[in-house]
Amino acid sequence: MVAEALRRGAMVVTANQRAARTLKLEFERGNRAEGLRSWRPPLIAAWDVWTAGLWQRLVLAGGATKLLLTAIQERQVWRSVIQGDSAHGSLESVDALAVMAAEAWERLGAFGAWERLRGVGASEDMRAFRRWEAGFRRRCEVEGFLTRAELEETLARALVEGELEAGFGELLLVGFDKTTPAQGGLLEALSEGGAEVGFYEGGGAGVLHLVEAEDAGAELRAAAGWLREELLRAEEDGRRVRLAVILPSPGQERSAIERVFREVLAPELLPITAGAMGGPYEFSLGQPLARVPMVAVAMDLLRWARGALPLETVSRLLLSPFFANGTEEGARAELDAFVLRRLTLLKPEISVEGLVRRIEGSKGAGRLGGLLGHLRALERVSGRVLEGLEPRRADGLLSQRVDGPQRAYADWGEAIRELLEAAGWARTGDGRTAAGDSFAFQVRRKWEAALDELATLDFEGGRRGFGEALEALKTVLEGTLFAPESREAPIQIMGALEAAGSEFDGVWFLRAGDQGWPARGTVNPLLGWVLQRELAMPGADLAADRAHAARVTERIARSAERVVFSYARRDAALPDAVQRASGLLDGLSFETLDLVEPEDVREVVALEAVADEGWIPLANPVVGGGAGVLQAQAACGFRAFAERRLWSTEIERPAPGMDASERGNLLHLTLEVFWEEVKTQAGLRAMTFEERGAALDRAIETGLAKATRGGAAGSAWERAFLETQRERLKRLLEPWLEQELGRAVPFSVRQRETAFEDVGIGPLRLHLRMDRVDETEAGDVLIDYKTGAAKPTDWEGERPEQPQLPLYAVLSAGRLAGVAFGRVQPGKAMGFDGVAAATGVLQKAEMLGEAGMVERVDAWREVLTRLAEEFAAGDARVRPKSYPKTCAYCAQRLLCRLDPARLVMEPEPDADAREGEEQHG
Ligand code: SF4
Repeated sequence: MVAEALRRGAMVVTANQRAARTLKLEFERGNRAEGLRSWRPPLIAAWDVWTAGLWQRLVLAGGATKLLLTAIQERQVWRSVIQGDSAHGSLESVDALAVMAAEAWERLGAFGAWERLRGVGASEDMRAFRRWEAGFRRRCEVEGFLTRAELEETLARALVEGELEAGFGELLLVGFDKTTPAQGGLLEALSEGGAEVGFYEGGGAGVLHLVEAEDAGAELRAAAGWLREELLRAEEDGRRVRLAVILPSPGQERSAIERVFREVLAPELLPITAGAMGGPYEFSLGQPLARVPMVAVAMDLLRWARGALPLETVSRLLLSPFFANGTEEGARAELDAFVLRRLTLLKPEISVEGLVRRIEGSKGAGRLGGLLGHLRALERVSGRVLEGLEPRRADGLLSQRVDGPQRAYADWGEAIRELLEAAGWARTGDGRTAAGDSFAFQVRRKWEAALDELATLDFEGGRRGFGEALEALKTVLEGTLFAPESREAPIQIMGALEAAGSEFDGVWFLRAGDQGWPARGTVNPLLGWVLQRELAMPGADLAADRAHAARVTERIARSAERVVFSYARRDAALPDAVQRASGLLDGLSFETLDLVEPEDVREVVALEAVADEGWIPLANPVVGGGAGVLQAQAACGFRAFAERRLWSTEIERPAPGMDASERGNLLHLTLEVFWEEVKTQAGLRAMTFEERGAALDRAIETGLAKATRGGAAGSAWERAFLETQRERLKRLLEPWLEQELGRAVPFSVRQRETAFEDVGIGPLRLHLRMDRVDETEAGDVLIDYKTGAAKPTDWEGERPEQPQLPLYAVLSAGRLAGVAFGRVQPGKAMGFDGVAAATGVLQKAEMLGEAGMVERVDAWREVLTRLAEEFAAGDARVRPKSYPKTCAYCAQRLLCRLDPARLVMEPEPDADAREGEEQHG
């Protein structure tokens, strides 16, 4: 019927762009199949495009002079009206209110209800909207603007008054489940002008099926299995098939659908090396351009040109193929893991200048020439085009450019192009535009269109700063849908409204349960519920919404020869409720459907069992990382192998402030500085309370300066953070010094944070750092500071939890009087705890006597030597000491292939306990 109407020269208007595209393609295909070599272009357009075309004709005919605003331009006008409203006190942002106001205005236009607004409502929101609406209307009148919401009414008037001619004799509307009063008014004016207006209701009813699945996942798999069968059947018959998967909200389920469909319909795409596109299905509706990764990178680069970005974002940029021509991948990943993520910054942010400086000072600079070139170019161009936006800090680490030049949007568009060019955005390794990749090419084209749209915001005149231009661009990108050009895949996935006007060979309608269909509509808070209810606007009138959904259901039921409706009995959101088929399906009659369970194609690679019997001995006995190697070996052979021979580590996640390990280091640094000055217990005792406090303050200050490398305290937040740390240390160390004063045997602090290079234990050579060695008349006391839980039993057994102190004891040359944890913790836990050879050396200690101490050290030597031998021999058995506790926070779980399902996680230790795990040996 549609094709016949087109051949008669009728104008076909569809409810959406998708239907217009499909009808055009089908018409051309049909003509070719009939052997036609040429034909008149069909008159097909979506409603919005068609009405905009009529407006153009009216303007060209001299019947109108107004400027028809685009959606983004209209939002801009709303924005400035709301911004100028002194009485506006909403907590919502101006942008969010502008979106809401534009939507309310559109509803009023669609329902021809401008006048009704004046008579109703007394809520604060409605009063505010009435003020804005009056301002908006005035502004449009003065400036000569016309909005989309007024278009139908304006066109209808022009038709009635003879200023506009329809230009066709017959109009066929396809895929309209209902028309708004404004659309109805325009159609009436056309009819009165002599045009024949008709609606295409779709083909006859096909065979219907209803499928109940146990849960949402099973429902998806059932649909995928059916689609697979349909595709195979069509392939056998050698026919082209058009299938559709329709659901109320495809956007929300995109990744779940993608996952199941890949598995069942395109297993060849399962390997991670396979591209994202190419399966027999495609999503018809696009996603906001702002969410396309290539565009998100562009926006991050532009924000970076303006000032410092969080380290996490810079990290993403470094790993992105769309930045700096996407070259030097490996060196960039190393820079990210070993330089960027290890920066000691209270506020984890870095500017372009800051990163340039860090790279220049790093070992890998030679391999990062391309990246450096782009960063310097970005720095240069941003310095020029954003001239006047100066970083607040000289070191460039925490800068945020402020103020700066004011330009028209179009000029900012050019500056943006220049900045991205400098940054090597979306270019290939040889510097060409990534046009060879069709997807990248399409994104780029859409991006250029978005920049052009940004330039249209100059319709108001005026100049803006770079920040405002970026905000406006973000709004444009969020409002622009991007879908890669259709590959005409046999399976199209789409929303229920989007399917209007399209016909298929088979349709599967997902989520047709009573919880999901009909989908709930929403009301606009600025119009008030009463007005919306009286006008039966979407979301305000349940009966009207239901009647609309019933028409959509009927239309879908008629849109293919075979239509399957399905729903899941159990919904994850409501685990206790049992779902039934939507009431909208009640009047339909269904036939049984035999479903074929899709094969599980995932087990394509047969598992091969390999006995791991070979140990790979260590070639070089020198092992970095201190005594931690023995601790790891005691915990689990595989952990030690992965950490100390494969150097597998967890990627660090920069966070504001200091993490547990940095706080531990700060405490060590402070105590080191303090004892460097005070030296002995006698010296401490000789000080007055005030002198002691002053020495502690000096030590804390020096410790903080060393811990932050003098680079902190730029912002108020940093200053406040450092003040908190100062206070915390003072409160912790004042009582700690009382503990030192209370020790019965006088001492002098002989070694503080002393490094020992190349010391031997068994076959291993280690580099160690000892926290502290005190000299007393009874001999040496070895001390290891701990800010978290630690107990002397952690030194004992065949697989000691904390072998650092036993190792220092084994390596100690002098007479040993004691070995102790110095627990610098608030409350009762504070104090020295360990073993001693003589009374009075430590307050809380197991008394061993001199012979006992020698015996204990010999036992430790035996255990540690055996652990060192195991490590050197390559004993990498997956053998956690105490499963699951040992594995709970191990970073090697991916490598050792421990089954996480068997791991019962215990509550995460509190911050102080984790701080105690910090390695200082
Ligand atoms: S997760 Fe457990 S078994 Fe695996 S390496 Fe770590 S400690 Fe060993």
